[in-house]
Amino acid sequence: MSNIPKTMKALVAYAPGDYRLEQVETPRAGEGEMILKVEACGICAGDVKALHGAPSFWGLDGQAKYIKEPVIPGHEFVGKVVEIGPNVEGDWKIGDRICPEQIVPCGKCMFCKSGRYWMCEKHDLFGFQNNVNGGMAEYVRITKEARPYKVPDDMPIEQALLIEPYSCSKHCVDRAAPTNEDVVVLSGVGTLGLGMVGGLRKRNPKLLIALDMNDVRLAKAKAFGADMVMNPGKEDVVKKVKDLTGGYGCDIYIEASGHPSSVQQGLDMIRKMGRFVEFSVFGSPVTVDWSIISDRKELDLLGVHLSPYSYDSVIQWIGDGTMPTDGVVSHKFPLEQWQTGFEYAATGKDNSFKVALIP
Ligand SMILES: [Zn+2]
Ligand SMILES: [Zn+2]
Repeated sequence: MSNIPKTMKALVAYAPGDYRLEQVETPRAGEGEMILKVEACGICAGDVKALHGAPSFWGLDGQAKYIKEPVIPGHEFVGKVVEIGPNVEGDWKIGDRICPEQIVPCGKCMFCKSGRYWMCEKHDLFGFQNNVNGGMAEYVRITKEARPYKVPDDMPIEQALLIEPYSCSKHCVDRAAPTNEDVVVLSGVGTLGLGMVGGLRKRNPKLLIALDMNDVRLAKAKAFGADMVMNPGKEDVVKKVKDLTGGYGCDIYIEASGHPSSVQQGLDMIRKMGRFVEFSVFGSPVTVDWSIISDRKELDLLGVHLSPYSYDSVIQWIGDGTMPTDGVVSHKFPLEQWQTGFEYAATGKDNSFKVALIP
């Protein structure tokens, strides 16, 4: 395509705190690859952590390095196909609207070969390694290992931007696997938690209780289908949940807040033999009395990572409104104002939920 400019605007990450808006060479499609013109790219909590120098990303404090810099950040992007290389898999056309999964699996490791590609040993993710540069740029390359999905042309960008985060929410709900006899407590209703409210609602639990320290978020959770909402900063939520369950506690506790106190709170309010689902990523190690899990409650403890086999359903559910999206993408900034965008995403300023950059 001759109308693809030689260079493009991109945000480039060099080091913790050293991100620069630059003019860089536009990627072109090689064998099995496509180029998208980016419509918008959401800012993830992970992007904020990378900017602020999380040791697990940058290989500090003796941890293995994850980021390969200089890299263009952003894994929550939607764009239109402007170039298709030779031998691209799938029936793609110029102008198709695409949202890829965030993971770009190697296809060769034990996990990939057994269908568990989201736990790929190599684990490249758009926007974290420079062989899979992300969407905070005018154009982005969909590499041949990527997993692209078709987004309906008439889906508003505010909805399309939630396909990636809500797919992670759906995977979490799948792991929690509530039935209509379960009392489910969901701790933390940011963007991902709000997606879980929609996903949990579809499974019709006996009672769905959302917890958050932020009343604006709680109001949103209620509007999206939570049966009850409670603010742990204002009331004794452990006692309240126990009172609601004959003193036993909730059947399933989903930790999606990222606050260490929410882990203890969950261990306190979950019933014996309940299911504790850990979704969050924490800024530092969490300390609890581990023997609650064994000796005192015999809990099932489940982790959650990414969004396998979720995109098709989530695109459908966002489209038909059963995964509510109203107002979740709350702020959009031009790429030039990326610093403001990251600040809003980091602080939740002006009641922001999901913040997006428009290149
Ligand atoms: Zn994300
Ligand atoms: Zn792999």
